[in-house]
Amino acid sequence: MAYDSNNIFAKILRGEIPCKKVAESAHSLAFEDIDPKAPVHVLVIPKGAYVSQHDFAEHASAEEIQDFWRCVRQVAEQAGVAESGYRTISNHGADALQEVPHYHLHVLGGRPLKVMIR
Ligand code: AMP
Repeated sequence: MAYDSNNIFAKILRGEIPCKKVAESAHSLAFEDIDPKAPVHVLVIPKGAYVSQHDFAEHASAEEIQDFWRCVRQVAEQAGVAESGYRTISNHGADALQEVPHYHLHVLGGRPLKVMIR
């Protein structure tokens, strides 16, 4: 799938629409999900134009990948869920119901989470 630069997270990255920023690094941005499913629900996205995790894993540089995962860790530390536990989810494509076609990782926690898939 080609990257659509009009997707909502691309607009957030360009500053065209606001977000509740949680963390930022050289290649990544983390912000609160607008419709949180848990007390902690943060989205971590790369600043580069990647459609999904599948695309990111193939095309991102080693520096971007390291930066991304360090940002995920920082989010968990800042949110205070590193000890209690947290879940990361990334939806890729239609069967996974990916809504926004810019790679994002959901970081969820802050309470005991239910089973993952029904
Ligand atoms: P996914 O189904 O994995 O593509 O998840 C997309 C997520 O983006 C959902 O959890 C939405 O609540 C969230 N979302 C959509 N628009 C915004 C926005 N403007 N700011 C923050 N989160 C958003």
